[in-house]
Amino acid sequence: MMWAHAWSTILADGPVQLGRPIFEFFTPLMEIIFYSLAAISTLVFCVGIFLKVRKYLRGKPAMRFDHLPGRVGRAVRLAAQNATVARGDRYAGVAHFLIMWGFITLFVGTVVLALDYDLIRPINASWQFYRGDFYYGYKLILDTLGTALLTGLLAMMVRRWFLRPPQLNYRRVDRPERSYDRRPWKVGDALFVVGLLVIGLSGFFLEGSRIAHDQPASHIWSPVGSAVSQFYGWLGLSQEQLAITHSVIWWFHVSLALTFVAYVPFSKAVHLLADFANLIFRDEKAGVTLPAMPEEPAPAHPGYREIRDFTWKHLLDLDACTKCGRCHAACPAQVSGAPLSPRDLILDLRDHADEQLAFKGWLSQRDLSGGEKQNGALPDARPVAGGVIKAETLWACTTCRACVEACPVGIEHVPIIVEMRRSLLDEGEMDPRLQEALTNLGKYGNSFGVSDRLRAKWTKSLPFKIKDARKEPVEYLWFVGDFASYDQRVQEITRTVAKVFRQVGLDFGILYEGERNAGNDVRRVGEEGLFQLLAEQNMKALGKASFKTIVTTDPHSLNALRNDYRQLGGNYEVIHYTELLCRLIESGKLQFGQPLGYTVTYHDPCYLGRYNRVFDAPREIMRALGLQVTEMGRCRENSFCCGAGGGRIWMSENNTGERPSVNRIREAVALGKVDYFVVACPKDVTMYTDAVKTSGHEGQIVVKDIIELVYEALDAQPAVAVSSSTAENT
Ligand code: SF4
Ligand code: SF4
Repeated sequence: MMWAHAWSTILADGPVQLGRPIFEFFTPLMEIIFYSLAAISTLVFCVGIFLKVRKYLRGKPAMRFDHLPGRVGRAVRLAAQNATVARGDRYAGVAHFLIMWGFITLFVGTVVLALDYDLIRPINASWQFYRGDFYYGYKLILDTLGTALLTGLLAMMVRRWFLRPPQLNYRRVDRPERSYDRRPWKVGDALFVVGLLVIGLSGFFLEGSRIAHDQPASHIWSPVGSAVSQFYGWLGLSQEQLAITHSVIWWFHVSLALTFVAYVPFSKAVHLLADFANLIFRDEKAGVTLPAMPEEPAPAHPGYREIRDFTWKHLLDLDACTKCGRCHAACPAQVSGAPLSPRDLILDLRDHADEQLAFKGWLSQRDLSGGEKQNGALPDARPVAGGVIKAETLWACTTCRACVEACPVGIEHVPIIVEMRRSLLDEGEMDPRLQEALTNLGKYGNSFGVSDRLRAKWTKSLPFKIKDARKEPVEYLWFVGDFASYDQRVQEITRTVAKVFRQVGLDFGILYEGERNAGNDVRRVGEEGLFQLLAEQNMKALGKASFKTIVTTDPHSLNALRNDYRQLGGNYEVIHYTELLCRLIESGKLQFGQPLGYTVTYHDPCYLGRYNRVFDAPREIMRALGLQVTEMGRCRENSFCCGAGGGRIWMSENNTGERPSVNRIREAVALGKVDYFVVACPKDVTMYTDAVKTSGHEGQIVVKDIIELVYEALDAQPAVAVSSSTAENT
């Protein structure tokens, strides 16, 4: 009946005049109360945001305003598509998409209503647009998106409280149970989702009570509100009772909504703003290269010693964290029982920053006359590096960048950790083994503590001489790297690389004793001065050589040469040997005969894959070799670190759980029949060969560098097509 009445009214009167009364059943006093509450709520919101911005302004400068329109456009696109949240977790992605768009639509709808009622109508009543076709469309859209909001919130609740994915486990890895309290986190999470759910539900009950009372012709444009109005019909309330019910729900709904607005800056809800800002200002290559230490004005100490050393962007990072736990689940240190969770690290820093630089810090820095205390001391004098965040936590990081990759809101864990390591190193707080490695690197240019004159000793047993690129021009300068040069277990593979290069007719040479450690991991343990020294020595040697392209087998050297050296003026074309072989295959200069036919799995090295996005070249080579590749679940950008990066290979192991390399081998073995665990990094050869032994999987899987399989294929079919131009040179 109600629906038939609605259509007949619309058809008789025409839709243009229809809208809905605002402040129905309101006395003038009630309107004054509402506007006063709205003003208070807005004021609290603004004060909260002011304190946040003030906190960021107390950070050190960071250059993040370059290409601002492009940054904003990219952030809008990522946020609108919900792309970063949906990546890797479709369930959370869909639920978040519904919540985000539902919330934005309801918010915009409220602003539009306020605009019409509070701005347009007082100026000229005939200009009001909240009626007719606009009103119908508005109602339909808000009803639909309001339903989406509720659906998304319910899905998130089911996930958090029933499905309980491991990343939402709030257990700390660095402290015993019961020595910390996670109730504030849990209460904050519940308040956020339940609060929004109650606001959304009460909105529908409010709309239903109005429709039940007014019986408006336009109710068909509010399908959910109309359905809820049936509930009131079922209760059999009189018109007067419906009016009272409407008023009660209105005040309940509006009070909650205004409380939510005031609560935003002080709660998890601040991520609505902080995350968008963080996506605008994020460095997409965070950690790939690191900020150089400022020379002018020279800092009092290197790195992040106290919270005031953080840049404003890294302070913003701390507020952007939503506790989604993706970084926590992806972190190899956490998995191996080391006292590091990137999520907890960020949130511990956030608590500390709030205590020091936000409202509490501001209060404790004031004397009663309102001036700032003279010494400007912060309330908690503990250093962040080694105090708020323990030294063993910072040293546990492999700088694998899995956390940065997983984080949906652009938080830059790796640069923050390295900055704190810089401070630790300056204080001399480090593992004695690391100290020894750094001493060797300073003295000999390698971490093995072997004379630099022996760097090219591995070439002695080759049946041919490799060109000295310092003395004669070459097309490819092969930067060999420490591990490939000095580690006896890897040297045979290094010779295999040389043989393959020779066999395919590559014009290549090496720097012999002119090469030094590239400094990638030296930089990532925080030894910036030594990194610069090594880089300068290498750049000097490279300056003496004549070459077109640098090729390396070592992804760590690749990263330093390709990305870090650029900061020092070293602009080279640097490629990994898998990229080079792939180019030769694509150009037809490298061909294989019979397919090898093995079943293999491939491990993406962090510094090749996540850092330098080389995912396809090794796979193309394996395809050309005729290998059956079975991928592990954690592959490509989600690859799992071997545990050696970020200088960890120079430190003692004191983790309580399974080593990352063992965890990885177990993952490979669980695939079923796999002949070879294929790697493309010299460190991986030793890490995984050891892991196969210690995990008791000898005989089940064998670690092979991809070059060994290339060599096997070439050996089986020596008649390889050779690059004519390069063959003449060798
Ligand atoms: S870089 Fe890797 S090891 Fe370090 S915190 Fe991130 S995920 Fe953990
Ligand atoms: S740092 Fe990023 S990935 Fe980690 S919990 Fe926070 S929002 Fe999630």
